[in-house]
Amino acid sequence: MDGKTQSPPAIPHRPEPLIFERGAPGRRALDLPAPDGPLPELDRLVPASLRREAPPALPEVSEPEVVRHYTRLSQRNFSVDTGFYPLGSCTMKYNPKVHEEFVSLPGFSRLHPYQPAETVQGALRLMWELEQWLCEISGLHRATFQPAAGAHGELTGLMLIKAYHAAHAQPGAPPRDEILIPDSAHGTNPASASMAGYRVVEIPSDARGGMDLDVLRRSVGPRTAGLMLTNPNTLGLYDENILEIAALVHEAGGLLYYDGANANAILGISRPGDMGFDIVHFNLHKTFSTPHGGGGPGAGPIVVTEKLAPFLPVPLVEKEGDRFRLVYDRPQSIGQVRAFYGHFGVLVRAYAYILAMGPEGLRQVSEDAVLNANYLLSRLREHFAVPYDRPCMHEFVVSAAPWRRLGVRGLDIAKRLLDYGFHPPTVSFPLVVEEALMVEPTETETLETLDAFADAVAAIRQEAETDPDLLREAPHRTVVRRLDEAGAARRPNLCWPLAGGELTP
Ligand SMILES: *Cc1c(COP(=O)(O)O)cnc(C)c1O
Repeated sequence: MDGKTQSPPAIPHRPEPLIFERGAPGRRALDLPAPDGPLPELDRLVPASLRREAPPALPEVSEPEVVRHYTRLSQRNFSVDTGFYPLGSCTMKYNPKVHEEFVSLPGFSRLHPYQPAETVQGALRLMWELEQWLCEISGLHRATFQPAAGAHGELTGLMLIKAYHAAHAQPGAPPRDEILIPDSAHGTNPASASMAGYRVVEIPSDARGGMDLDVLRRSVGPRTAGLMLTNPNTLGLYDENILEIAALVHEAGGLLYYDGANANAILGISRPGDMGFDIVHFNLHKTFSTPHGGGGPGAGPIVVTEKLAPFLPVPLVEKEGDRFRLVYDRPQSIGQVRAFYGHFGVLVRAYAYILAMGPEGLRQVSEDAVLNANYLLSRLREHFAVPYDRPCMHEFVVSAAPWRRLGVRGLDIAKRLLDYGFHPPTVSFPLVVEEALMVEPTETETLETLDAFADAVAAIRQEAETDPDLLREAPHRTVVRRLDEAGAARRPNLCWPLAGGELTP
């Protein structure tokens, strides 16, 4: 750090050894009584060839050592429970704590997926009702909860598109092997399409940030399997041409896939089914407030029109009278994309959220999310370029290109925000905007928080004018300083040498 820099680390951080580097032989958190004699059950269950002679090389630590180690690690991370987290496209809204109580109820937490349906009627009812609600929110017909994340929902949806076209193939027709995707799409869209065996045809954005209709018209045809679209898109803009887009794709025989990972602008206002989409995935871990990222597993349920329902993964929950059962006998199903029924604990939280909000509350969520985003855009616009200057939806994208004359990039602003106690916005995405900063405040933030964030950006702007190195070397107050992010992504070293082994790079 040079002499000009005025922000020494607030608290010197001591290095945190790994759990394997702690403790001492014989130290224990829990003492179990030794078994009386041999364990005949164990002998029967685990064949001798699979049994280990020496005990496994586990850390030997006391309970306080374990608790302190992991609590300290958790405190080094940024989370929605510690600060504002406007990471665009990720919908880092607050996760209500009462949901954790519901999900711990023994009737939910102690279920076994192999239990007979007769003994899990409450769980099946929860899945059935949640399905009805997601159908109502999307304007579509049936859902599966198996996909474990948004990208997994995309892949599942593309497998349905493939199954649908296979079932409706005309003899002699060219193969439907192309998926159209706008250039502003989330990176998972083209990745999922090529993973599903499709060729990706990129459609550019027009001057208003929507899909270029002329290029779309030239691109649809007999080889079009479908179109993947996010609306509002990753620029936070609503594509008003959506009905025309849907008609063009449908007339060519293609299907429409709605990437609904961030549905935070449309709840109770606009339905993908009414826009003309055939398949939607929702990220329960974004829009429906279940924990996210390091906080736990996600869920990317997909909802489909009636004509795609026969191809959904099995099982589906069916209601007969007031009883519920799991139905596997669906001959056109693509099979299973995940064990059992998806991440049930995530479903419980999303169910609680929707039940607590109700239809009016969900609409309020979206109205507040859009209001917060527009407010923050109005406060930040003086510091940036606004590439597509229209009212935004739940998020917006500004460009830090004007800061280049100071030798400062969007990434530097993002890193400096960490010193001010804020999680940075998404940077360098979408790719159609240079030096993009993508900001998604969500509805769960107060006016004071939004103002404090805008004030921090204004202060950083001042710093950029007087001491740009302060930004280029940021962050200064975090546990680790600026990281080699490309190196971490391309050459990750995730190995730890156990029992004197070599550390392999
Ligand atoms: C987050 C996101 C995804 C991917 O969801 P995951 O659960 O991370 O797989 C896809 N599309 C958009 C627009 C997203 O924001």
